[in-house]
Amino acid sequence: MGCTTYVAALLVDHLTKRRCTFVDYPNLVRLNPNVPWKTRGNGAVCLRFTCGEENISSLVDSIVGIVKRNSDLAHGRTDPAVACLRGPVPSELSLFSKKVIRGLVGVKEAQKVAAKFRISCIPLKGRKGVIGATAAIGENLQGDHTYELIAYRISRNRSTPRRVDAESVSKMARESEPLTFNNMDPETGRILVTPRGKDPILYGIRGETPEVVLRGHRIVKAAEEVERWVIFRTNHGTDDHFSQLSRISDICPFRPAFVTGRVSANPRTIPGGHVILELSDGSGSIDCAAYEPTGSFRHTVRKLVRGDLVEAYGGVRRGTKTHACTLNLEKIRVTDLAEDILFQNPLCLKCGKRMESAGRGQGFRCPSCKTTDRTVSKIPVVNPRELALGMYMPPARAHRHLTKPASRYGREKTGPPMPLIEPWHWP
Ligand SMILES: [Zn+2]
Repeated sequence: MGCTTYVAALLVDHLTKRRCTFVDYPNLVRLNPNVPWKTRGNGAVCLRFTCGEENISSLVDSIVGIVKRNSDLAHGRTDPAVACLRGPVPSELSLFSKKVIRGLVGVKEAQKVAAKFRISCIPLKGRKGVIGATAAIGENLQGDHTYELIAYRISRNRSTPRRVDAESVSKMARESEPLTFNNMDPETGRILVTPRGKDPILYGIRGETPEVVLRGHRIVKAAEEVERWVIFRTNHGTDDHFSQLSRISDICPFRPAFVTGRVSANPRTIPGGHVILELSDGSGSIDCAAYEPTGSFRHTVRKLVRGDLVEAYGGVRRGTKTHACTLNLEKIRVTDLAEDILFQNPLCLKCGKRMESAGRGQGFRCPSCKTTDRTVSKIPVVNPRELALGMYMPPARAHRHLTKPASRYGREKTGPPMPLIEPWHWP
């Protein structure tokens, strides 16, 4: 029921009242989405600010108190921690953060890194939270990043359906896309700015700049009170979890992976409507899965044939005794199409009808004039391909927070982050 970003929003308010000056938007960092022991969104937040030297320890105590009071510590998967670093972010710490976003890191390693850079860690339950909190400090989003304005509900509304005006969301989408993204699902028309759980989020507007998400927020109408809102700077929609190309034989469970391979077995549909595709790259082969919730993406995957060359992006699911690892597809790029060749029975030389097999090694027989012929064989026919080269991904409703949507290609940021605009939070 809790939400890390909501606790961050409360801290923004608290720190502002204690005369801290923010030097960046709160950073919302999504970590490896394939970690099995994560909370739902595997998010961590970092607040970067300056303050008067003398009050630091009382400030830290007050921060820890707010995090504690607003964490659902009884929940099995909740394991919060606060980590504090004074001074600039060391580049080695940033490398550690990339590792937490792209791989698996244990508590011991995180504690070692924290100790090395004199980061003080205050775990509130177990120790797993130290990993994410330390990683959030190190990920200062110097590369590509996006913004999300998150508006929160007042506490008594949190178990009721969200009352956000659908027409205003589609107006916002029309007026701001492609500078905002993942507002609505194009296939179902479903509104994606509102989450569906009992968490405190009313809606989140994702976009390229702080100005555009603020403008979007002013267009969206809610028939319920907004308690507060904050603009976050984040790695949402950046593909930050995919690093360099892996060989199929190097793929490990619970990690995001990106491989290039040839389709080595035609796609098959399994019960539940999931589509499985086998890819090989010379080092090994792996099953790639497009699950039912990915909607029309499965139809694309089903059009691939043996010999096609693709780049596949996804999270690796651990294998079982009977099954090897599976790559759960997040997106696929088709880079070369093979010829799709069908073998058809020959036509009857006498009457022109399509012949039938007369049995193994027996040649062909015409069903119409009964002629048999042992000298003819099947004829290869090139089947026209219904697939073009290019990037394919599931509809927005099936995206992970980190997945870069199609509309963001070519908009990746490389320059320094944008300065704070006013207002960037409320109250
Ligand atoms: Zn015939």
